Amino acid sequence: MARNKQGILFVVSAPSGAGKTTLVNKVIAALPGVGLSVSCTTRPPRPGEQTGVDYSFISRDEFTAMEQAGKFMEWARVHGDLYGTPRANVERLKDGEDLILEIDTQGAREIRKVFPESVLIFILPPSLEVLRGRLQARGGDSEEAMAARLHNAQKELDQIARYDYIVVNAEIEEATRELASIITAERCKTARVLEREKGGTYGANNG
Ligand code: 5GP
Repeated sequence: MARNKQGILFVVSAPSGAGKTTLVNKVIAALPGVGLSVSCTTRPPRPGEQTGVDYSFISRDEFTAMEQAGKFMEWARVHGDLYGTPRANVERLKDGEDLILEIDTQGAREIRKVFPESVLIFILPPSLEVLRGRLQARGGDSEEAMAARLHNAQKELDQIARYDYIVVNAEIEEATRELASIITAERCKTARVLEREKGGTYGANNG
């Protein structure tokens, strides 16, 4: 049976402090066959963050060299730092792995242009007050940086109509179930199943 194993590209955006990383990590642990794209950034690591796990933490010079060599699928300046999705990460889709990109709204727009079939998911905090509290609890950001993040959060919220799904992260287990359900539903979409099975059991009678 000829199987087209192209994976599904999920783009997850959220204002920082919405709990996106915890949520995405829980879903990846729970759902086989979905991986995470580790971005490159010029931002310094926060306490507990590891290079190669949370991000590849690189210098501005390294970032510029990669950008000029065309190694990023998309990149953006966020809160004064540079963030980019390495092209090599997205190549994993060809192996049939579903992939999550945790990127901002600018990046999501770029990815949609290149991959119109990508699935865009926005994670909302229950309120801006909760967001502020989470940012304070996380630490590692100056007052100024935190104010910039809150301002940016407001701007990002204006973009949510571009997204296919919204998950409100009020309670982590519930939000995890919702995100996992979205991924599962997308995997079961008729068009995707027929594409995967082209020439196979179901694809043969298609039309
Ligand atoms: P943080 O510094 O809080 O980890 O991330 C700040 C913002 O940058 C978040 O909105 C995050 O999704 C976004 N971001 C992280 N990696 C990338 C990337 O590779 N590309 C783009 N466009 N945004 C990214």
